[in-house]
Amino acid sequence: MQVLDGKKAGQAIREEIRLQVAQRLTEGKKIPHLAAILVGNNGASTTYVGAKVKACEEAGIRSTLHHFESDLTEFQLLEKIRDLNNDPDIDGILVQLPLPKQIREEEVIRAIDPEKDVDGFHPINQGLLMQGLPGFIPATPYGIVLLLQHYKIETTGKEAVVIGRSNIVGRPMSILLSQPGPAGNCTVTLCHSKTQNLNEHIRRADIVVAALGQPEFVKADMIKAGAVVIDVGITRVDNPSKKSGFELKGDVDFSNVSPLCSWITPVPGGVGPMTIAALLQNTLLACVRRNN
Ligand code: NDP
Repeated sequence: MQVLDGKKAGQAIREEIRLQVAQRLTEGKKIPHLAAILVGNNGASTTYVGAKVKACEEAGIRSTLHHFESDLTEFQLLEKIRDLNNDPDIDGILVQLPLPKQIREEEVIRAIDPEKDVDGFHPINQGLLMQGLPGFIPATPYGIVLLLQHYKIETTGKEAVVIGRSNIVGRPMSILLSQPGPAGNCTVTLCHSKTQNLNEHIRRADIVVAALGQPEFVKADMIKAGAVVIDVGITRVDNPSKKSGFELKGDVDFSNVSPLCSWITPVPGGVGPMTIAALLQNTLLACVRRNN
């Protein structure tokens, strides 16, 4: 078994981005600027946004964090997004999900200018993705593609099973794996909570992407020997022996599954850092597209 080290691969991509941003600076071109919006004080969301802002800083990308109280109205948030859409200095807009229940996520996502939608959640970008046209690919599946490419994992002709059909992870992942091109050309089965005989589907797979948000759901007896296993799940599970009071668990029972795999991502240190690297890549791309 070999580890698909997202920390290492993500660092290499972020260094490449840093060099490109530095090059833009010496050429007198615009430096990318990401606006991140955080509503409320959810611990996990605060951590994720903090990590994204820090990664921007390290890559020389400007970032501005707009932090609002949890009683922010949908109208107020839409106003903020409108301002950021109209601000020529802003290249990318990220709204950290989930949002408080008085705010409809679909409305917020649709309000973001698709050309600044560096999370790739806007229906226009998702449509472009479906047609294999240039747009913004959602950061987590894009990060997984970059990870597969970094480790030169052969995907052509492979059976891939994606567990989870969300618009931000599972569904776009299934499209990317089935598209012609790098990290594609798979025969993909997309599974969800209504899938019959889920274990049989997973057991057939050469590549498994687990994105269901159920800690340690994927067990050793579901995995074909030699499979590549990508664990997207991150769940905070109570653990009083930890200083934080919790530990992060993936969707895969790592200790029992890993001996069977050819490659596997750890949690943490697998898909998470790749999501951040992909977000930075999208932010640089947005800046290049908007400013040359
Ligand atoms: P969602 O809750 O939006 O989607 C979960 C999907 O899993 C749904 O399609 C659901 O099916 C399916 N599912 C749930 N339970 C089962 C089951 N028992 N068997 C089969 N399918 C099931 O989650 P997300 O896609 O947003 O996220 C998934 C996980 O990935 C979470 O742990 C999240 O924290 C993590 N994540 C990690 C990121 C990273 O950077 N590493 C980034 C984004 C997410 P149905 O549609 O039928 O309800």
